[in-house]
Amino acid sequence: RLVPLREALDADSLAARIAAVDLVLDCSDNFTTRAAVNAACVAAGRPLVSGAAIRLEGQLSVFDPRRADSPCYHCLYGEGSEAELSCSEAGVLGPVVGLVGSLQALEALKLLAGFGEPLVGRLLLVDAAGSRFRELRVKRDPGCPVCGARHG
Ligand SMILES: [Zn+2]
Repeated sequence: RLVPLREALDADSLAARIAAVDLVLDCSDNFTTRAAVNAACVAAGRPLVSGAAIRLEGQLSVFDPRRADSPCYHCLYGEGSEAELSCSEAGVLGPVVGLVGSLQALEALKLLAGFGEPLVGRLLLVDAAGSRFRELRVKRDPGCPVCGARHG
């Protein structure tokens, strides 16, 4: 069941919305939103399935604050970059978005139903031009300002 929200959420309403769900998929197109969603997921202890696509490249990872070894989005991307590329400026090919979205849906089903090996602590890189997948290990940053104090 889809419940569309026709308003932008501020920090308080975002925290309330995220606390009310089992899992969050971030399909947004800007760093400010991704950072805010990550912080709210860490605070509420909700797993975050994060995906991004631009041009012929995609990235996917799962951040699960219920696991002590899981990094968060901030551990991986930090404060981001001022010169952020947007799809409207840089372009993205439709099937790349479809591919990353399907992988996000798969990760969500695995987490919700409790099967398989979720993409926690790993960053999946999609190179659509070369039809290659690559995986990087991502460690939790003990000094992370978002999740660092979470486990003492
Ligand atoms: Zn972190």
